[in-house]
Amino acid sequence: VAAGPSTPIRALRDVARWDAAADVVVVGLGCAGACAAIEAARSGAEVLVLERAGGGGGTSALSGGLLYLGGGTPVQEGSGFEDSPEEMFKYLMAACGPGPDEAKVRHFCQASVAHFHWLVELGLPFKGSFHPDSGGEPPTDDGLVYSGSENAWPFDAIARPAPRGHHPRTPGAAGGLLMRTLLAGVEASGARQRTGTRATALVLDPDGRVAGVVARCDGEERSVRARRGVVLTTGGFINAKAMVARYAPQLLRCRYRVGSDGDDGSGILLGVGAGAAAIRMETGDISLPFYPPHALLHGLLVNRYGQRFVNEDAYFGRIGEFALLRQDGAAWLLVDDSFYAPPRAGMPLAATADSIEELERELGMPDGALCSSVELYNRHAERGEDPLFHKKKRWLRPLRAAPFGAIDCTVENALYAVFTLGGLHTRPSGEVLSPEGRAIPGLFAAGRTTSGVAAQGYSSGISLADGTLFGREAGRSAARAPL
Ligand SMILES: Cc1cc2nc3c(=O)[nH]c(=O)nc-3n(C[C@H](O)[C@H](O)[C@H](O)COP(=O)(O)OP(=O)(O)OC[C@H]3O[C@@H](n4cnc5c(N)ncnc54)[C@H](O)[C@@H]3O)c2cc1C
Repeated sequence: VAAGPSTPIRALRDVARWDAAADVVVVGLGCAGACAAIEAARSGAEVLVLERAGGGGGTSALSGGLLYLGGGTPVQEGSGFEDSPEEMFKYLMAACGPGPDEAKVRHFCQASVAHFHWLVELGLPFKGSFHPDSGGEPPTDDGLVYSGSENAWPFDAIARPAPRGHHPRTPGAAGGLLMRTLLAGVEASGARQRTGTRATALVLDPDGRVAGVVARCDGEERSVRARRGVVLTTGGFINAKAMVARYAPQLLRCRYRVGSDGDDGSGILLGVGAGAAAIRMETGDISLPFYPPHALLHGLLVNRYGQRFVNEDAYFGRIGEFALLRQDGAAWLLVDDSFYAPPRAGMPLAATADSIEELERELGMPDGALCSSVELYNRHAERGEDPLFHKKKRWLRPLRAAPFGAIDCTVENALYAVFTLGGLHTRPSGEVLSPEGRAIPGLFAAGRTTSGVAAQGYSSGISLADGTLFGREAGRSAARAPL
């Protein structure tokens, strides 16, 4: 991403007067902004939060509320799971590639238990119980789920599996509870808030230091001075069609964009205007939730050549990524009559047939290709083995009960849910970096405005967890920045 003629930058000399001032100005009040504001205020800074909507919440409030935490939290221990920061680190370094930010992943793992306690002390409740269904947030108020591929090949051989999807204590989606708790924390911290106020430019002094923000409020332009620093926490860019077309065009093929109006990339553009690097802009969470019902994990995912390409019991974020990026969005789930049930996400049946040969013809696959995949799979499944992709024994069952079906998992017809993971390059401290790796004075960022823990290979809960943790870091760093 490069700065251009419409770059949202204002020179200090062009600011006639300051309409407001604070030590730290936080732009955007979702999970990352709320945590930045709380920690900056607790560090003694005078904090002003600018939020373009009528109130705080952002995409965070619409979310499932799952937080990826681990390393031995009380919820993990109470549910009988052993975990350590090292095992968590091994999993995330293997899963979140290629090339995850090692320093960020390391801090994310080492600080995770303390971050859990910070959230609990703020008032976020968790029940010490495990829900066996993997994937997103559970329908119950249980506190823990497998929300990634920890318990699936190849990761179960790389790190000791442990569930790390922490679910605040409320049935189903918990983003509302998370944000109510964080916003109450902002209120209690003494940070001031201006809603209905959209940041449109950063103010740069002659030395390249970020000195403030220009914002629009009630149709008027206001200048806000930031004595120590500005923290950008405006969310990602999945709803900025032109940016997605330019940087992550594969995501445009997906039907369901996971985000809110604020995810228009404004914070990334503000940062780039001030000289920041935006990195991994092509990456995103690409979920293909073909389950629940979990019985569908008995099925076989195949590509247009009738060949398997992934273990079906991996997290559906990994499956979506493999299907879209490696198979060009062409995938079908083969099922038989013994376990078929319609996917909750509504994927239709592309074909049904009384034999695999007929199904192969219906799907237009090369002669014999699907038949040989099913024959190979069945032969090994009978012995409880999957030598190609190591699906767990529990899900291995030969496909023999006619009629057979192919659930349509093509990107054109199935629900692929996507949001962006690329953004400003930051240190774990939240300092925003230039393309040369130099910290831009006075500029900090967190949440989906930044490239975080997951470079790709997302597991559910990482976004809220890295947004809250690194939001706190950014708030503290901004409060400590020189006047
Ligand atoms: C249905 C759904 C379920 C999800 N489930 C989960 C889950 O369980 N776990 C998980 O980790 N992630 C989940 N996600 C993703 C996650 O919610 C987001 O990635 C995360 O909330 C981003 O947090 P944020 O603080 O960076 O941005 P946001 O929460 O979007 O906050 C950004 C704020 O900035 C404001 N803003 C934007 N531009 C400006 C501007 N120029 N000036 C002033 N204000 C501005 C916005 O209005 C918004 O309030 C889910 C998302 C959805 C939609």
